[in-house]
Amino acid sequence: GLILGIESSCDETAAAVVRGGAEMRSNVVASQIPTHSPYGGVVPELASREHLRNIVPVVRAAMEEAGAGFGDLDAIAVTSGPGLAGALLVGISYAKALAFALNKPLIAVNHLEGHIHAVLLEQAELAAKSEQPPLPLPALALVVSGGHTHLYLVRKRGESWSYRNVGRTVDDAAGEAFDKVAKLLGLGYPGGPWIDALAAHGNPSAVPFSFAQIKAKAHRRDGPAAAGRSAADPAASTLFSFSGIKTAVLRYTQLHAMAESIEHRRSVLAAIPDARPSDALALCDQQALDLIASFQRAVVDDLRRKTFRAAEQLGATSLLVSGGVAANRELRVRFTAEAADRGLPIAFPSLALSTDNAAMIAAAAWPKFLSKEIAADELSADPTLSLGR
Ligand code: ATP
Ligand code: MG
Ligand code: FE
Repeated sequence: GLILGIESSCDETAAAVVRGGAEMRSNVVASQIPTHSPYGGVVPELASREHLRNIVPVVRAAMEEAGAGFGDLDAIAVTSGPGLAGALLVGISYAKALAFALNKPLIAVNHLEGHIHAVLLEQAELAAKSEQPPLPLPALALVVSGGHTHLYLVRKRGESWSYRNVGRTVDDAAGEAFDKVAKLLGLGYPGGPWIDALAAHGNPSAVPFSFAQIKAKAHRRDGPAAAGRSAADPAASTLFSFSGIKTAVLRYTQLHAMAESIEHRRSVLAAIPDARPSDALALCDQQALDLIASFQRAVVDDLRRKTFRAAEQLGATSLLVSGGVAANRELRVRFTAEAADRGLPIAFPSLALSTDNAAMIAAAAWPKFLSKEIAADELSADPTLSLGR
């Protein structure tokens, strides 16, 4: 049951070999952070070019690290969406060609299902060593990353997993808020790790940010996903919104005349090659650190309150958090504490599997391989692919 996974949906080119959805044999990620960081965000054309440059060596490294030859593989798995069209196409074209040349089945994987399987893969690894019982189902999964803030109710029947979409953001994703706030405060890209590191030095109660309660009616999504949902089931539509807090942070900096120190920080950091969050610490006064800590606390608290409320309303018996923002230390601490209070098992991916990787893609492909869910010959990129009903 050896599957080679390939992921190129955004700004990392990744390949990994996973056995039976439960044993990670290799996991190679080529990050494009240095390419995009001068622009403060992912530049789609540059992403495609970097994927093209990296895909062959990254796959080769993953095979080598796994000690496997192409002939040992049982299937090739690739992310088919959601993501940047040009970026996705690099992985898909390569995977198709490889599957064709090797005469092995090709399996298409939804990137969001991948993020969920990052956790399930490691849970399966622990269960195999009988270090831990598997997560009780149904589980509520919070997928929280640069492009997504979604809740899914996760179930398993036989070998196949099912997902019900029970929450989403109506505007920015949580990771996007971290990235935008970091940018407006003159910090590096991507912003999450910078805010995570600097927030530890600030007072999270210094600035009171608040989140409006969003009315589900005002944000009805078109299409089949919105239809058939009972209005009497409020948890069927947990809504997040993270664009307002970005504006609130901007207003705070204007109100407190922070523009000059922000500009100074931006220019000093721009002059440091491979600047790191620790370089920014000396460039932040207490007011800036307090603002950063308060922003992070507000986002984490909003995620936490709504996620635990949905878990209770839906009768979820465990929680799973994944995606880049799941790497956040404050989030892990506060979610873990509340889960302990409620006696609810909770699981996070290791830090390496929180952000984009291909091990999660190979793991998610395993049940599809077992049920012979093979991709059609005309498989193409689906930039807006959604997960679940
Ligand atoms: P998607 O999965 O939605 O298609 P993506 O490729 O951006 O998008 P990931 O690589 O899973 O997803 O996540 C990247 C995001 O995670 C960025 O927004 C980044 O700022 C955020 N992030 C990474 N580490 C941290 C952290 N320690 N704290 C908060 N956010 C973080
Ligand atoms: Mg990424
Ligand atoms: Fe991702």
